[in-house]
Order: sequence, then C-alpha cells, then structure tokens
Amino acid sequence: MSDCVFCRIVKKEIPANVIYEDDEVVAFEDLNPQAPVHILVIPRAHLATLNEVGEDRAGLIGKVVSAAVGIAADKGLAESGYRLVANCQAAAGQSVFHIHFHLMGGRNFTWPPG
Ligand code: AMP
Ligand code: ZN
Repeated sequence: MSDCVFCRIVKKEIPANVIYEDDEVVAFEDLNPQAPVHILVIPRAHLATLNEVGEDRAGLIGKVVSAAVGIAADKGLAESGYRLVANCQAAAGQSVFHIHFHLMGGRNFTWPPG
C-alpha cells in the first residue's frame, strides 16, 4: 500500500534502522522507543490488523513471532525477559494499520498495561 508508512519502510522508500529482514519479515527500531530495546517486527505483506489473520496466514505470523524471538535472543533478552505486543484497532492503541509486533525489553514492565 503506497500510503502505508510500514510498506514504505519495507520498500526502503523511507529510512529505518533495520535490525533483521528476510523474504517475509522485516524488523526495525521504533521511532519513539518506550524501552531500551523497542523493535517493530512486521510481515512484508500489508495486512492492516490482526483481524486479517486466519488459518491461511498462521504460518506467516508464526514466522514474524519466530523472528521476534530470535531478535530477543540476539539482544540478550531471552532470560531477562521481554514483551511482545500487538495492538489491534484504535481502542487497543493501534496507530499504524500494518500488522506489527512491538518487541520491548531492557527494563521491567507492569501489568496490566495502561
Ligand atoms: P501502534 O501504536 O501499536 O500502532 O504502534 C505504532 C508504532 O510505530 C509506534 O510505536 C510508533 O512510534 C512507530 N512508528 C511510527 N512511524 C514510524 C517510523 N517511520 N519508523 C519507526 N517507527 C515508527
Ligand atoms: Zn503496509
């Protein structure tokens, strides 16, 4: 989608600090980090919200989550812990409508989130 900021990052039309990429997944640093490690892990394919994830896309989302787990390990967070969050729709805090998982770590988090 040409007007989607994350599609534009995927296509390298706008800059981002890319941490990881493969043929289906891209991960880059969040512009407004909320933790010492704050990386967004996204599918290359434009899917607006998690509501578009049916059984047909379970494999793709598995790859996104698996990439996030690998990045967390690379960042030394596997034992200390991290949070992997996907907001679905505006009421949950979603502001960019291209599915993304926030990988956050390097500090303690509270529960429930605000
Ligand atoms: P959400 O509110 O869950 O949709 O998360 C969207 C996230 O995207 C926010 O944490 C923003 O800081 C981040 N963000 C928005 N634009 C960019 C960008 N161009 N590069 C990196 N992160 C971005
Ligand atoms: Zn997109």
